[in-house]
Amino acid sequence: MKSCAGCVLGVGNSVDGTIRCFKYATVSNANDDKENCLYYIDITTNPICPVCCREGEKVSGITVKSMLMNTEHYVEGNDYYICKNPRCLVAYYDAHDNTICESSLKVPIWYKEGARPEFDCYWSKVTKDDVIKAVVEKGARDVKTVSEITGAIKNSNCLVNNPTGKCCHNEIQNIIDEVTKNIT
Ligand SMILES: [Zn+2]
Repeated sequence: MKSCAGCVLGVGNSVDGTIRCFKYATVSNANDDKENCLYYIDITTNPICPVCCREGEKVSGITVKSMLMNTEHYVEGNDYYICKNPRCLVAYYDAHDNTICESSLKVPIWYKEGARPEFDCYWSKVTKDDVIKAVVEKGARDVKTVSEITGAIKNSNCLVNNPTGKCCHNEIQNIIDEVTKNIT
């Protein structure tokens, strides 16, 4: 971790090792230790979202392509990242600051603000409410039982069906944990 004088927050650019100040958008060298800084900077490893300046997560091009309603602006072989900020309208972006908005996708990204319905298992279109119902009304306490009741996860191909390209298994477990915490 490096600190930067003057700015309060910084975001690192893994490509050239510079840090862009979150506040003033100035650029400094990540290898210089700056004095008098009140805050530390976490050097990020992925390019940041050009709109909200937060670090995203790499997703497979296969995932991006299969999520798009129109693949006209999709660049084959490009590295794509998913924006994890719930308030940001950007779904995916690349290292050249090209962005793909959430409105261009076939399905909403579940953690983005206003996503209705919030799909947890994209493959079988199982929503958060379905999972909660299985836990509260049917007494399911693990992912396997939820899957049997709701049809979630079964034969899922998350690489092309979930905008994150990852399996919804963990998300379902999180919901079960959250709900059972309030029951027992
Ligand atoms: Zn963003």
